[in-house]
Amino acid sequence: MRIGVLALQGGVAEHINHLIKLNCEAVEVRKKEELEGLNGIILPGGESTTIGKLLRKTGIFDILRNKILEGLPVWGTCAGMILLAKDIENDNVKHLATMDITVRRNAYGSQIDSFLAEESIEAVANEKIPLVFIRAPFITSVDDKVEILAKIEEKVVAARQGNMLVTSFHPELTDNLEFHRYFIGICGKYAKL
Ligand code: GLN
Repeated sequence: MRIGVLALQGGVAEHINHLIKLNCEAVEVRKKEELEGLNGIILPGGESTTIGKLLRKTGIFDILRNKILEGLPVWGTCAGMILLAKDIENDNVKHLATMDITVRRNAYGSQIDSFLAEESIEAVANEKIPLVFIRAPFITSVDDKVEILAKIEEKVVAARQGNMLVTSFHPELTDNLEFHRYFIGICGKYAKL
C-alpha cells in the first residue's frame, strides 16, 4: 500500500513513522507529480491557511481536489480537516471543500487550546484510544451523507464520508496505530473498486 502524506507544512514525520510501522510505503508529497500512484493521502495538522496557500502555489490544489472527488482516500487530521470542509464558520477562505461538513477553527479557544482525551470509537477499534487535541477544530454540522465516528462532550471530532475521513485530533502523536490501520483499510477497499 502506497500512502502519501502532504508535506508542505505541519506534522509530517509522525504520520510517516506510523505508516511505516504498518508496513506501508510512505511518500512525502511536495510536488504535484508525487500525487501519482497513491492508494491514499493524509493531510496533516499544521496551519490550514498556510497549507492552503502552499497547495495553490505548488499546483497541487486542483489535481488533489479532482483525485479526491474521483475517490482517492484522504484523511485530514486537524488542519487537514479544515482543508476538506465545505464550510468553515470562522474563515472566509475555503480550501479543497470536498466534504459536506461545517467546521469551526480553533474551536476550543485559547484557554484550553491543547488537551488529551480517551474514547472508544466503535468503527475503529475495540479498546479506548488516546486522542490528542492541539488548537483543534470541531465539526458543527454534517450533511446526512456523513457518518459521525466520534463525539467528545457532544462535539463531533471524527467523521467519514465515503473515501474521506477527518479527525480533530492527532493519532500520529500517540503510540496507538488503530486510526492509521483504519485509514489503510479504507485505502484497501477503494483500491479494489
Ligand atoms: N489551528 C490550526 C488551524 O486552524 C489547526 C491546528 C492543528 O492542525 N493542530 O489551521
